[in-house]
Amino acid sequence: MKKTLRIAVQKSGRLSEQSLKLMNECGIRFNNGKSRLKAVSYNFPAEFLFLRDDDIPGYVEDGVADLGLVGENEMAEKAKDIELIKKLGFSKCRLSLAIPRDKEYHGPAYFQDTNIATSYPRILNQYLENQNISAQIHEISGSVEIAPSIGLADAVCDIVSSGSTLLSNGLKEVETIFKSETVLIGNHTALVEKKDLIDQLVFRINSVLTGKGNKYILLNAPDEATQAIVDLLPGMRSPTIVPLAMSGWNSIHSVVEEDQFWEVIEKLKEAGAEGILVVPIEKMIL
Ligand code: ATP
Ligand code: MG
Repeated sequence: MKKTLRIAVQKSGRLSEQSLKLMNECGIRFNNGKSRLKAVSYNFPAEFLFLRDDDIPGYVEDGVADLGLVGENEMAEKAKDIELIKKLGFSKCRLSLAIPRDKEYHGPAYFQDTNIATSYPRILNQYLENQNISAQIHEISGSVEIAPSIGLADAVCDIVSSGSTLLSNGLKEVETIFKSETVLIGNHTALVEKKDLIDQLVFRINSVLTGKGNKYILLNAPDEATQAIVDLLPGMRSPTIVPLAMSGWNSIHSVVEEDQFWEVIEKLKEAGAEGILVVPIEKMIL
């Protein structure tokens, strides 16, 4: 029988759009089945299951899905027997402790004998144990940030990205206890039995993510500046040099890591580069 990969993605929410975009960038096409429970790809042996993110780790453990895209926070909270295959770099956020803004904070001992509201009791409990603090954990499934103002808790432990939700609820963030991004998780058996297909998918994901982390750069330079510029540009093997129609000038092409990009651009200009073009890379295979 022909093998098919079953991939669980969030049905709707903060992860769904980017999860499907990544699959699309990996060249995996399917008719949009977001309103349904399932969609089958017509050009890759994969089908997508659209689920609530809370259910994804469990379905991957049970083998209902072979793979899943889910927040690392959900993965850690559910603590299922699954494999973390790859971090995917999007939906970055953190799980933090926050207290009313007018309270003074001197360190984690603040939380001794307090009542903390959270949707992440397991991760919070682990943190409190590590810190040797005993506190009451009050588990609630949503709108955690309003708990202190309605007298339900002394503090909250919740997902934060910018911190504006905390601020507007009169809270301040005082400790980060967990950092999260979307991850690709896998079922142990599927990783053996469907290894070929999973390897193919991971290869495609790697080439997309590496491409995003790099830029293709083209610039013009006079002969006398060319060597200094080449020395600044590593390239995949080494930069390409193509002579311009105007004698005494070259076009130099290379690949620069996104993180180093602005620093390199400054140095290139100082070294005599002109007409610098920067182009996104769709896929990069090392
Ligand atoms: P579901 O209906 O699927 O259960 P949900 O309401 O539990 O959805 P979302 O709010 O869509 O979940 O968040 C899903 C995941 O996105 C979180 O578990 C976390 O990993 C990440 N996330 C949450 N809030 C943010 C944020 N403000 N910025 C970035 N990522 C976030
Ligand atoms: Mg959820």
